[in-house]
Amino acid sequence: MIIDGKALAKEKRVKIATEVEDLKQKGVTPGLAVVLVGEDPASQIYVRNKHRACEEVGIYSKEITLPESTSEDELLELIDDLNNDKSIDGILVQLPLPRHIDPDQVILRISPDKDVDGFHPVNAGRLFTGQEGFFPCTPLAVMEIIKSAGVDLNGKEAVVVGRSNIVGKPVAMLLLRENATVTICHSRTKNLAEVCKRADVLVAAVGRAEMITADYIKEGAVVIDVGINRVGEKKVVGDVAFAEVKEKVAYITPVPGGVGPMTITMLLHNTLLSAQKRA
Ligand code: NDP
Repeated sequence: MIIDGKALAKEKRVKIATEVEDLKQKGVTPGLAVVLVGEDPASQIYVRNKHRACEEVGIYSKEITLPESTSEDELLELIDDLNNDKSIDGILVQLPLPRHIDPDQVILRISPDKDVDGFHPVNAGRLFTGQEGFFPCTPLAVMEIIKSAGVDLNGKEAVVVGRSNIVGKPVAMLLLRENATVTICHSRTKNLAEVCKRADVLVAAVGRAEMITADYIKEGAVVIDVGINRVGEKKVVGDVAFAEVKEKVAYITPVPGGVGPMTITMLLHNTLLSAQKRA
């Protein structure tokens, strides 16, 4: 079965909109600040999409665009202001930042309680130690999708290909929380196809077009494709060779239209959560 990420996202946004409305009745409007430094066209599109998504569910979104020449200190000062701004529940600084700004310093400066991207080391630690906190949106999207398919992860073999801090590692931790037996693979993993073939649930977060072919897949597996790879001028494909893999699996997400639409939805979810805590 092909999991329709767009439809899932739509459903979830309706629920979020209802909860936002409930909060507003209590006098609290959830607010998200999105900070963009410079004029990277791809980042501009991402920021616009986030703004639209907020509008759709009734979240107040404050878009702050700063020139490329902004210094690290100026950006840190802005973050301090947003940390203290009572109308803001979530702060997101669009990455990548210009080279002269250290993204680690910027993320460290965001209050962990407004870190709706879930990138702050405090939130990474909370995830690691089984506490509540804000967790990164793409990994949360992956978990929502698996849940929507009604998959019980208890005792299942889960294999994650990719170990980045924003996708691979947090996804592995979330799968572990649900009692899956988790293997994390990366560029040095030996016999990758064999390891992947053990997976009842396979999450691909590599960034290599269609590298996961049918011989990596166990019959009846659940395959979640996080990859976004541009091929040629207009085409976008995932990390999974969709056409051949779909014949072998129980569930699979397409690219585009799988994990992508759910990712922004989970940002809205985190912002709502933060506002609920404030309320
Ligand atoms: P990174 O480049 O940070 O990480 C890629 C990971 O894949 C690394 O851990 C790397 O291993 C591993 N890898 C690379 N080549 C191989 C290989 N041949 N075999 C096994 N492992 C390999 O990418 P991200 O985690 O940021 O993103 C992964 C993909 O997901 C990208 O396509 C990105 O565009 C997409 N993405 C999609 C999102 C969405 O909303 N749908 C959001 C975020 C990302 P090593 O650590 O050893 O180098």
